[in-house]
Amino acid sequence: MEYYILFEEYLKKLNKMSVPDPMVIGTSVAGLCKLLRVAKVVAYFYDSFKDESLGNGRSTCVFDTGEECAVAVSDRLVTEINSVAVCDVYIAKGEQPWDYNERERIMLVLKTTMAFISRLRLKQVTDRLTFYDADGYQNLRYFIAHIEKLSLDDHLFGKVAIHFNLKHFSLVNQQIGREAGTVAMKGYYNTLRSDLDEESTICRVGGDNFVMICSRTELNRVIDYLAGSATIYDRDTGDRVMVSACAGVFIIPEGFELTSPGDILDKIISASQSARQPANNDVVYFNAVMVANKERIVRIQQLFPSALKKEEFLVYYQPKVNVETGELTGAEALCRWLRNGSIVPPLEFIPILEQGTEICKLDFYMLDHVCRDIRRWLDEGRPVVRVSVNLSRKHMADVDLLKHIIEIIDRNNVPHQYIEIELTETTTDVEFRDLKRVVGGLQKAGVGTAVDDFGIGYSSLKLITEIPWDVLKVDKSFLPLEGDDDSSNRAIMFTHVVSMAQKLGLECIAEGVETAQQVGILRENGCKFAQGFLYDRPLPVEQFEEKLVSHHYSV
Ligand code: C2E
Ligand code: MG
Ligand code: MG
Repeated sequence: MEYYILFEEYLKKLNKMSVPDPMVIGTSVAGLCKLLRVAKVVAYFYDSFKDESLGNGRSTCVFDTGEECAVAVSDRLVTEINSVAVCDVYIAKGEQPWDYNERERIMLVLKTTMAFISRLRLKQVTDRLTFYDADGYQNLRYFIAHIEKLSLDDHLFGKVAIHFNLKHFSLVNQQIGREAGTVAMKGYYNTLRSDLDEESTICRVGGDNFVMICSRTELNRVIDYLAGSATIYDRDTGDRVMVSACAGVFIIPEGFELTSPGDILDKIISASQSARQPANNDVVYFNAVMVANKERIVRIQQLFPSALKKEEFLVYYQPKVNVETGELTGAEALCRWLRNGSIVPPLEFIPILEQGTEICKLDFYMLDHVCRDIRRWLDEGRPVVRVSVNLSRKHMADVDLLKHIIEIIDRNNVPHQYIEIELTETTTDVEFRDLKRVVGGLQKAGVGTAVDDFGIGYSSLKLITEIPWDVLKVDKSFLPLEGDDDSSNRAIMFTHVVSMAQKLGLECIAEGVETAQQVGILRENGCKFAQGFLYDRPLPVEQFEEKLVSHHYSV
């Protein structure tokens, strides 16, 4: 009888508690089971209906006398998230069947057990949904909880926080297929995780971005691994692909006060963003310089709208020259920012504007100003050459790009043949399709097109064979420099690029020509046009206009 009392009490408690106390339930169930001649109580839990039909569940034995027995009562409960709990109650061997009252009480045992088990399992499922993403990686919430725990235990000192982004993973996907790419990413993550100690962790924070905490002693090994590691993508054949990452690292100093996990995240994300810039190292350590850089980025983003309104951006023109005749045949429009009386070069602000979409406004502004200049030259009866304008790849997301370009040219009443649009290569298939559409459209409209910086990044054969460019601008890295060990290799590559362009009927221009020796190489290979400091630097419009009149460069 005492068990019944205990049980009644327990039910009363259960009504008041949001989560049942396992101790209370455990004792109650075990006591009731003994009293009611129950031999065994087993609960099964399935995460989904599918798991249930496949029998993929986890079971818990709530009570067991060890006697051989048969299932006497069974119940099934479906939770709000469609997980399933099943509870079987076994009667002891040789016992008489339960009478009505006993059976009712047994049902009570059963329901209580189920409530208890499903609560516990539900917690596990919600934990999984909270701390893991759909692909089974630990997520940002996990990382935040981990940092908070380390901070609470005063264990942050001696640790390193890292944000890393897999390099060109979209290309890896293209190369080996998406499914194999998924296997490679998981393999790369698992291998890195496998050797870490228990206070370390790695979490995926979306796409191919990861954050991790490890100890300082592990840092060198982690950096080596991130620099490039052959990773299996086909478990049957053992085929491997190289996976590498750019990383931002913050070494947590002694006495570091964590006010919020965002403190650490902000630092590693901005270090990682710097590491992704092509000009920087693949691993960037967060330091005071980065704080200053971050402030500079914010300042430029804030200043940009009013600077654009006040027309602080100037068009500089860099002449393009025929290397045989010395004739000035064209120009590239390059942006300069006149800020408080001094000139800011584009590499100091364009990469920042490219982080958002402000760059698009600047490019259209540049195109508009170039068109205004050309219109004025035409009206003043000056000689006019074709001017190329740079458009950032960010424009590829604009479905009306073509319309916008033509609108600007037509608004200024400039004949289309005076404008050329310079675009750089793309990294994704989607961008490639857009690029092809835009270049094709420009060609139909009689506007020139040039592929800029050809030879660095991902210039592919497909890029120049499938897209109808007019001009190929060979990047300056192809030109041999004096005292350069790699000189002959560069010259060979230059020869091939130029001959390929010629075969495809593309006009070829070499960028960054600085020496007479380089001009010699251009001539030998039949590359007719050059742009570079040897002839002229980018010039303010008045100086360029003077050159336009009748200037010939010495050859
Ligand atoms: P880019 O389009 O490849 O422009 C050529 C860059 O090479 C220019 O740098 C030019 O000054 C530099 N250059 C020319 N001749 C030589 C040379 O003989 N030696 C060396 N070392 N460099 C030479 P700049 O003006 O600093 O522009 C840098 C980049 O900024 C440009 O590279 C372009 O990507 C970007 N940029 C400039 N203006 C604009 C713009 O209006 N819109 C966009 N989206 N990007 C722009
Ligand atoms: Mg350019
Ligand atoms: Mg270029």
